[in-house]
Amino acid sequence: MHYSTIFFDLDDTLYPHGNGLWDAIGERMNLFMIEKIGLTAMDVPALRTQYFRDYGTTLRGLQLHHSVDSQEYLDYVHDLDLGEFLEPNPLLDEMLSDLKQDCWIFTNADHKHASNVLEILGISSRFQGIIDVTALDFVCKPELESFQRALDIAGCPETSRCVFIDDSVENIQSGVEMGLNSILINKQNTPHKEEYRQMSSILDLPLLMPELWAA
Ligand SMILES: [Mg+2]
Repeated sequence: MHYSTIFFDLDDTLYPHGNGLWDAIGERMNLFMIEKIGLTAMDVPALRTQYFRDYGTTLRGLQLHHSVDSQEYLDYVHDLDLGEFLEPNPLLDEMLSDLKQDCWIFTNADHKHASNVLEILGISSRFQGIIDVTALDFVCKPELESFQRALDIAGCPETSRCVFIDDSVENIQSGVEMGLNSILINKQNTPHKEEYRQMSSILDLPLLMPELWAA
């Protein structure tokens, strides 16, 4: 099998879960909902769970139900010093540098956040581009439509020749449904499923799929 394209999720995929960044972004989302929309702190967790479940992101729910301006929201929730959470990852850079496939970031976050994260990790130059929430027109993973848009942006590669890596089980299930070779970054030791592979860290990719590096 000759693979042409690899789609990488960003948050909790290209850096390890548990470094506090995702929690800090979540805290900013809560604050936005309290300070900018006027919700009570008690209502926020259930609403976020509901929006995330129904629409893939909190933002989509806020757009639909509270007419939130997406750029104001994205700027607010990502207003963090990323250097507190992330550091350069030369091992990851080296791993990516030897890949021959077109590598894309495929994220529900926005371009600015994604490029800042890539910059700090020291891997910006390894990607063809960033497919972010704006490029997806706010149709987010795990919606199947978002995968179709990502494939279109990446030049319509055959799905069987694509690899998709993400830390969300729901997103991986959609990837499988779309026919992508999907790999879960298993951060919670979810039981093994037959329909997709999994690894605990992005750095395990060469062990799981050495064929990606084959000449
Ligand atoms: Mg993620």
